[in-house]
Amino acid sequence: MVRAVVGANWGDEGKGKITDMLGKESDIIVRFQGGANAGHTIVNDYGKFALHTLPSGVFYGHTTSVIGNGVALDVPRLFEEIQSIVERGVPMPKILVSERAQMVMSYHKNFDAYEEERLGGKSFGSTKSGIAPFYSDKYSKIGFQVSELFDDELLREKVVRVAEQKNVLLEHLYHKPLIDPDELYKELMSYKEMVEPYVCNVSLYLYNAIKEGKNILLEGQLGSLKDPDHGIYPMVTSSSTLAAYGAIGAGIPPYEIRQIITVCKAYSSAVGAGAFVSEIFGDEADELRNRGGDGGEYGATTGRPRRVGWFDCVASKYGCRMQGTTDVAFTVLDVLGYLDEIPVCVGYEINGEVTTDFPVTHLLEKAKPVFKKLPGWKTDIRGIRKYEELPENCRNYIEFIESQIGYPITMISNGPGRDDIIYRNK
Ligand code: GDP
Repeated sequence: MVRAVVGANWGDEGKGKITDMLGKESDIIVRFQGGANAGHTIVNDYGKFALHTLPSGVFYGHTTSVIGNGVALDVPRLFEEIQSIVERGVPMPKILVSERAQMVMSYHKNFDAYEEERLGGKSFGSTKSGIAPFYSDKYSKIGFQVSELFDDELLREKVVRVAEQKNVLLEHLYHKPLIDPDELYKELMSYKEMVEPYVCNVSLYLYNAIKEGKNILLEGQLGSLKDPDHGIYPMVTSSSTLAAYGAIGAGIPPYEIRQIITVCKAYSSAVGAGAFVSEIFGDEADELRNRGGDGGEYGATTGRPRRVGWFDCVASKYGCRMQGTTDVAFTVLDVLGYLDEIPVCVGYEINGEVTTDFPVTHLLEKAKPVFKKLPGWKTDIRGIRKYEELPENCRNYIEFIESQIGYPITMISNGPGRDDIIYRNK
């Protein structure tokens, strides 16, 4: 059976923790999109880890970790990450890399940084991991696919062609050092050496695994609102963050994805620029930011303070709908235990009218939040394992949000650890 773990919002919903937890009963965990630009934070028996490229299942001895064709593969980052977990006592994970995955090149990272510099104050808040230049090249058909590392003739010709095209921009738009095709070839050869032992025909591997009845988990990065088609374009990421893309980015039939677990955080947070309707500021925001997540809401990749806000029912209802949610995992609920009252955004007022349907970007920018205040529960709910044992106001908060978003909340996460979870049968 294939399941997907994806985000309803702007990312950082706690997908890593849910994937790590569900990894226990999975045979194969697949990353199907994105690159090293976002991170998952995982707390388990080995310690606390920030993963960027490896799937969150790498900590189990019984799972195989797969980098699907849809991923922006940063080869040196992948190997650094493998090394860093092995150094801390995690057994060497079983890793497979799709022969159809494309590689992030050092010039992609440079272009990312140069473009941010050129845009100045109008920048997108990129993590400068090369993701946007990488996907642009993939669709312009000038990217380097892992399989091409094994076709030397093609590679020698292609490095010249790519350098020629990139150098026009480097020279005339960015005024930066040019790419030397020989150096580019050497870079590719170093990636070949690193990646060779793991290269695999992943779609065939997964086809056979599905036939054998294996449990496969697709792990999404970021969330619905960062999807290039359905998100807050242009403040989005460059690959689809939706479960549907799991079929493409892993190479499996869409109908095989039987369960779509959409992760929603009990309040909102976002990194980077873009409209964020339920955002809060000042002391109120600082308090939530510092209490949030596990040790504060600061980016796993960049350490940047995340923007924070109250739970947004409009964005989350839409985010869950676009994912095709079968189950909602509601996370980081324990953090809200300090509040007397908890505001929840239940509508957007746009041009004098209130809507609960998430709009396109230019209208989103005009949206003002309509808040409803719910009573807080003022206790620490960590350690509770049964839904009925949660304080009444806490259950009311969950059930109110469930009714607003319209998808069943079947898992409630009340702490960063693997066991901090309450299952709720619906
Ligand atoms: P991801 O990108 O969706 O995997 O999310 P991140 O890992 O960036 O952010 C989630 C943060 O919240 C991490 O620091 C987790 O350890 C932490 N976390 C996850 N679930 C919970 C929870 O239920 N309670 C608390 N307090 N922290 C959690």
